[in-house]
Formats: sequence, C-alpha cells, structure tokens
Amino acid sequence: KAETALYHAKRSGRGRVVVYTHEMEEAAKRVTRIEQALRRAVSAGEVEPHFQPIVDLKTRKVVGFETLARWTDRDLGAVPPMVFIPIAEERGIIGPLSQLVLRKATEAAKSWPSDLFLSFNLSPSQLVDQNTGLHILAILDRAGFDPRRLEVEITETGLMSDPASAEKIVDDLRRCGIRVSLDDFGTGQSSLGRLREFRFDKLKIDRAFVSSILDDRPSEHIIRAILAMCEGLGMDVVAEGIEQEAQADRLVTFGCGGGQGFLFGRPANAGATLGYLREASRGALRVATA
Ligand code: C2E
Ligand code: MG
Ligand code: MG
Ligand code: MG
Repeated sequence: KAETALYHAKRSGRGRVVVYTHEMEEAAKRVTRIEQALRRAVSAGEVEPHFQPIVDLKTRKVVGFETLARWTDRDLGAVPPMVFIPIAEERGIIGPLSQLVLRKATEAAKSWPSDLFLSFNLSPSQLVDQNTGLHILAILDRAGFDPRRLEVEITETGLMSDPASAEKIVDDLRRCGIRVSLDDFGTGQSSLGRLREFRFDKLKIDRAFVSSILDDRPSEHIIRAILAMCEGLGMDVVAEGIEQEAQADRLVTFGCGGGQGFLFGRPANAGATLGYLREASRGALRVATA
C-alpha cells in the first residue's frame, strides 16, 4: 500500500506528495498509538474473552463456544479485533495477548457443562513459533482444563508461511487431544491440496458463502460441494455467520451439521455466558430463535 501511495504521489506532483506523506504518517502514528495502548492493556490483563455459541443445526442445541478477544481502551474506546489482532501480530504482541485471553477463557469455561467445547483462534505467526504448543498446554494444565474440550481454529494463511512448522505444532496439539479446525474456509488462498496434507477435525465455512446462500446459486453449489467433501474426509462442518432462520433451514436441508451466527447468539462476556448456561440448563441447552 505504501508503494502504491508513493507511486501516485510521484505521478501527481508536489502538492500531492505532501498530502499522501501526511496521511501515511498519520496512519503510522495511529498504529503506534494502538500498539502502545495494547501493550499496556495486555500487561494489565485488560483484554477479555467473549464467547459465541456454536449449535447443532438440527436440534439447535449449543455444543460449544468460540472465544473472541475484546478490548476497550480508556481513550481509544472499543477497538475491533480486525484492527488490534493484525497490529498485535505485526508488533510481536500476539503471543502474550493470546495467552492472556486463553487463560481467562479456560478459567471461565471450566465451570461450564463438561460436554461443551471451547474453540480458540490461532494467528499465523503463532504457527511458526514452536513454543505455541507448550504455552497452550501449560495454560490448560494450570487451569485444569481438559485438552479434549479445546479446539484451535487456524486459517489457510496461517499454514502458508512455514507449512512444516505449522504441521509440527498442529501434530503436537492433536497428540494431546486438542482438535483442529480450518477457519474461514473458502476465502483467501484456499487450496484443496491443503486438505490432503493436513488433517483437520472440522471445517468452518466462511460467512461470505452463508450470507449469499439464499439468493446466489454459486454459493449454494459451493456449500454443497464443501459438505460432500467434508463427509468424505470425515470432517465436521460449521457454517459461520448465520443471521436468518431461512439460511439455517437451507443449511440443514443440505446436511450441514453445525452453525454459528447472530441468529443463535452474539459474542458475550464470561458472566453473561455463564448466566445464559445456568438459565438454559433448567430446560434443554437450546437457543431461542424467533
Ligand atoms: P473469526 O475467527 O472468523 O470469528 C468470527 C467473526 O465473525 C467474529 O468477529 C464474530 O463476531 C463474527 N460473527 C459471528 N456471527 C456473525 C454473524 O451472524 N454476522 C456477522 N456479520 N458477523 C458474525 P470478531 O469478533 O470481530 O473477530 C474477527 C476476527 O478476529 C476473527 O474472525 C478472528 O480471525 C480474529 N480474532 C478474534 N479474537 C481473536 C483471538 O483471540 N486471537 C486471534 N488470533 N484472532 C482473533
Ligand atoms: Mg474463528
Ligand atoms: Mg471464522
Ligand atoms: Mg472470519
């Protein structure tokens, strides 16, 4: 992006050079400001896990929760993960941030019904760091959280930069009973070859396909093909970003097992999640939909 801006700057004369340089400088300053605030927040333990339910689409029973990091800074306000996670990655804060969130998440999930799993996102840079597995296991050990209840979500991007390293980390985790899912499938640099090289327990169909499933034939065909492939490969499937009842219905018709999205519940903090589980345990653990 910097090169593009410079290219345009060169082509459009002196006045523009100043404008672009200034904008770039402002953007860089903002990133640095977020970085500094984030460092402080991580050492103060101020990044919180939120939890979004994942359901069995047919029965609507909650089967687990995905952990999603949330951070509100006193001055910057609520900073979305799409902003602070990439900065944490670039500036070398993702390790401590991730450990903080996993520690809090497992502490919270420990008191949930034991048949519920917890899933957790791993960033690409964590899949080139051979200490990642040790760190995760140490946290689970200290929290007394059964590794068989944990799933890690990784993206194809995370497997690309150093596949051998990623494979070793994934193998180590799997040996301890942790399951591995492929997140955001169908976007980015999807390669079916990846599914031959790596074994995944679960595949998560990206929201982009789900959101267009009702009005777009290609999306429908792609989802059906993914489902058929997963069945053949023995992988579970979760469709992400389900917002409408009609989307859930269609996915059930196609034979999709799992679902996640605002229709079933938004990410909520540990307290609200526990309250919800207590409420639900009096009846079946089922999500209320319209
Ligand atoms: P993701 O892992 O694909 O997580 C799903 C995202 O979709 C979440 O966004 C969630 O809030 C959002 N979502 C869920 N259901 C719906 C829906 O029905 N409609 C719409 N429009 N959105 C829905 P969020 O929380 O903003 O997180 C964005 C991304 O940031 C995540 O994508 C994940 O890649 C990353 N992330 C979040 N927390 C962590 C973390 O602790 N560690 C790492 N490494 N990455 C994280
Ligand atoms: Mg995820
Ligand atoms: Mg996802
Ligand atoms: Mg995503």
